[in-house]
Amino acid sequence: MIELKNADPNFKWEIIKKEGGEGLLKCFGCSDCAASCPVRYFDERYNPRKIIRLTLLGMKNEVLSSPFLWFCAHCHACTERCPQGIMVADLINAIKNYAVEQGYCPEGYKLQLDLLKRLGRLYEVEDFDLKKRQRLGLPPIDKTIPEVAKILEYTEIIKHVNSKPQAQPSTFQKSAGQITKTQNPKPNDPSSQEKMEKE
Ligand code: SF4
Ligand code: SF4
Repeated sequence: MIELKNADPNFKWEIIKKEGGEGLLKCFGCSDCAASCPVRYFDERYNPRKIIRLTLLGMKNEVLSSPFLWFCAHCHACTERCPQGIMVADLINAIKNYAVEQGYCPEGYKLQLDLLKRLGRLYEVEDFDLKKRQRLGLPPIDKTIPEVAKILEYTEIIKHVNSKPQAQPSTFQKSAGQITKTQNPKPNDPSSQEKMEKE
């Protein structure tokens, strides 16, 4: 249940200030974004309209601690369909960026950042890879790229991901954990599409 007494009236203004967050107030909740989202075909718990609505209501803790925020694949299908011309994918990105700044970063992203900091890559280049490249006639590559660590340092992202969240885990997150079975709507199934558009 959403408890509006816990709402933070400044939350939406914080998001609007961020790059990509400018269109937030234009959302009138039509759900076209949700209806066109390919991620929802596979997991209908993900709903960009719901994230935007909760943001407008000021439900900061619920939005920032929600695992669903990270489901967005940034494909821009929603952006193409939004009748209000909102850059929906960029708006979701703005909320993600704000979440990281506030200390909410999924463990998987932290691991990826650690790899980037240490290696400059998301995978380790081993002797096996270099030999394979040689066999294929490809030039050798460096095992590490130190410049990437410098870029990460410049953005201060490591500092943000290692900071503690400023709020407690949300009821939204808890209720997400209680869902044991995902009922996936089928692509091209008119009843599924209709159901999503109503949500
Ligand atoms: S399609 Fe645009 S206006 Fe409609 S709910 Fe999504 S963001 Fe809001
Ligand atoms: S950008 Fe994100 S919210 Fe929009 S359609 Fe793609 S996956 Fe869904």
